[in-house]
Amino acid sequence: MTTTAAPPTQGTEIEIGDRARDYLSLDSLFSAEELALRDRVREFVRRRIAPNIARWYEEAVFPREITTELGDLGLLGMHLKGHGCAGRSAVEYGLAAMELEAGDSGLRTFVSVQGSLAMSAIAKHGSEEQKQQWLPGLAAGRQIGCFALTEPTAGSDPGGITTHARKDGADWVLTGIKRWIGLASIADVAVIWARTDGGIRGFVVPTATPGFTATPIEPKLSMRASVQCDVTLDNVRLPADAVLPNVVGLKGPFACLNEARYGIIWGAMGAARDSYEVALRYSRQRLQFDQPLAGYQLTQRKLVDMVLEIQKGILVALQTGRLKDAGQLSPQQISFGKLNNVREAIAICREARTILGGNGITLDYSPLRHANNLESVRTYEGTDEVHTLIMGQAITGLAAFR
Ligand SMILES: Cc1cc2nc3c(=O)[nH]c(=O)nc-3n(C[C@H](O)[C@H](O)[C@H](O)COP(=O)(O)OP(=O)(O)OC[C@H]3O[C@@H](n4cnc5c(N)ncnc54)[C@H](O)[C@@H]3O)c2cc1C
Repeated sequence: MTTTAAPPTQGTEIEIGDRARDYLSLDSLFSAEELALRDRVREFVRRRIAPNIARWYEEAVFPREITTELGDLGLLGMHLKGHGCAGRSAVEYGLAAMELEAGDSGLRTFVSVQGSLAMSAIAKHGSEEQKQQWLPGLAAGRQIGCFALTEPTAGSDPGGITTHARKDGADWVLTGIKRWIGLASIADVAVIWARTDGGIRGFVVPTATPGFTATPIEPKLSMRASVQCDVTLDNVRLPADAVLPNVVGLKGPFACLNEARYGIIWGAMGAARDSYEVALRYSRQRLQFDQPLAGYQLTQRKLVDMVLEIQKGILVALQTGRLKDAGQLSPQQISFGKLNNVREAIAICREARTILGGNGITLDYSPLRHANNLESVRTYEGTDEVHTLIMGQAITGLAAFR
């Protein structure tokens, strides 16, 4: 078990000044409304996630009860309009992702899978009936959704999926195996991507349908406060109207993945910021060789490097957000942000851990937990390598995927 009382060196009482918190005064780039939303989510994370996350992480628990609280805050499908969704801007969605991930990537992942993947798929590609049936309950967090694209033999290359849907009279019958499907074992509804005679299609599948089985992948060394599953589809029979009517081909799932990738650009900076602030507080309080660690040049260099990359990363996130709100953000630009910000964030979390010394490997401190989580974040929603290849193609005009 983790210790319940904070160890004396945790230093939460140490104030972090404005310069250390927001070096370039980036807050001035946000509207009052954006900052108000950010602060509401920050307060929720402080009150609801921070005191519990070490236990959830250690016990590998996703706190199911938190989903309606996130719904009440308007964070589920928050960038979608209508059917109970909050209709907030891309920048506001990003700020919420950053605050949630400062708590834990697993909680931000829940919001991404629910809102950007499952709900986005239905909102972008679904019929009016599908939207009415599922979006209000998902937005409120009363119901949970998942999004199943990846398979045991098709990860970075989703064009290789083998799950298939065949027509049987008016019905569809789905067969196949999916892997790494977030929330599947607790979901009410799954958006399943499958091959048909007419190309890749999405299907809205109530998880209670006979033949649908989800088994959590355990144990994990990353994303422990969230659930990912193997999913088996054994002749899952669905009515004709289960198919998402408005899209055919991989552009269907990619449109949703781009939403989730965008949120990660912000979220990763939340994990980095929390790690930096923990390391800063600790280093100001912890004495070695009769001086606070923060007084040594080597430590200051580490902290300064963190501030440089966090501030730059937030600027990258903000620029992608403003482009998205203007309807001008390309998938290739999303790759820039996802690749850069996750790569920098994981380096910051690891460096922050070194400042904590041995205490940094306990769950009393967040940086190593964040770093472990970010191992998943750099893999899902397009790996570092895939985003490098996307950018490489954008720059050179030459595809190097094969
Ligand atoms: C915590 C977690 C949650 C997830 N949630 C979901 C979810 O909800 N729904 C869903 O559908 N999927 C989900 N995924 C799956 C995720 O999208 C895949 O793991 C990811 O796409 C990578 O696929 P893979 O794991 O099969 O690795 P692989 O594709 O086998 O890749 C292995 C390595 O090879 C590299 N590689 C691959 N191709 C190339 C190339 N052409 N050139 C150079 N290097 C290459 C990769 O970058 C990687 O480093 C999740 C994964 C994780 C870990």
